[in-house]
Amino acid sequence: MELPPLSLYVHLPWCVRKCPYCDFNSHAVKGDIPADEYARSLLKDLQQDLPLVWGRAVHSVFFGGGTPSLFSAEQIQGLMNGFRSLLRLSPDAEVTLEANPGTIEHDSFSAYRDAGINRVSLGVQSFSNDSLERIGRIHRREEAERAIKSIQRSGIENFNLDLMYALPGQSLADAIEDVRDAIGFNPTHLSHYQLTLEPNTAFYADPPRLPEEDAAWRMQEACGELLRQAGYEQYEISAWARPGSQCRHNLNYWRYGDFLGIGAGAHGKITVPSENTVRRRIRHRHPSAWMKQVGNGNGLAEDRSLQSSERVFEFFLNQLRLLDGVRKDQFEPRTGAAWGEVSGPVSQAIEKGLLKDQNGVLAPTDLGWRFSNEIQALFLP
Ligand code: SF4
Repeated sequence: MELPPLSLYVHLPWCVRKCPYCDFNSHAVKGDIPADEYARSLLKDLQQDLPLVWGRAVHSVFFGGGTPSLFSAEQIQGLMNGFRSLLRLSPDAEVTLEANPGTIEHDSFSAYRDAGINRVSLGVQSFSNDSLERIGRIHRREEAERAIKSIQRSGIENFNLDLMYALPGQSLADAIEDVRDAIGFNPTHLSHYQLTLEPNTAFYADPPRLPEEDAAWRMQEACGELLRQAGYEQYEISAWARPGSQCRHNLNYWRYGDFLGIGAGAHGKITVPSENTVRRRIRHRHPSAWMKQVGNGNGLAEDRSLQSSERVFEFFLNQLRLLDGVRKDQFEPRTGAAWGEVSGPVSQAIEKGLLKDQNGVLAPTDLGWRFSNEIQALFLP
């Protein structure tokens, strides 16, 4: 096995309110966030992983959540200083902060920029106040616009807008209007997700009426066309970027790179060539339980070596989301498995017209792109 690029994910798990469709590890704020204690725990948590990554450069940092912008710029700065002292952070590392409009941001985006943030991902979801209300967001269009303008004023040029489509009561024209509005702000990156009903969410328990699958497909197609015309390139099922502005952090996940994951419920993946394996490390999920366990010297709820079949599945699961597809020559160095383990499913996918094999790269066909679940099922452990 070879060591792939390494990233750092930092989970900040609080939100002003829980959105009814959200299945992330996020918790509604009750009273004050124990932000200082949580930040100290993060640095302690990171120290536990260091022996697995000594000397390796970290190419990206991602503050995800939750709503990381509920933490002040000073706290983010303190964390960045800590990361720099503990890790070999590349001078040109991409450092992303997720933020939500309508949150009581402690600071302007200029202060976050000064703290070391050079990319912002803003959860706009829709520019329609009707849609925002129907999906239980706390913000309105005006707050999203204010937040975007604040990012632009801060000099952070690299920013993403998250949009969702196939929302309750949304028409094709509404979905197109949302994308048109987003393009008007000229983000470098746009994430365009279909709203799905996930178990353990309020929407799952009491589902709203969503557009039919065919209508959702038409929205995806029409919005995609608009994005292409505006100069965005799709590089993943839900991700569009201006040339050269793909999210490096997410690309590393999808290419089956390594990542440290710190904070409540965070997942990490570390390649260990000497053992020909990959370690999966998962932190305790609840913030207070995790802080308590970190205080006791071990925030890990799970730490195990992935079996060969799991590594193979994850390798394909991740990369088949990418338009570029899967580089066959990366299979053995990244999974430690022999190509013979997957030659059967790969042939089946090609015979079914789901994958094409071009110059050593396996890429989904149009059919495979639409039925990506079928391809993934072929590689299930
Ligand atoms: S703001 Fe994001 S992370 Fe927080 S509850 Fe809503 S969808 Fe989940």
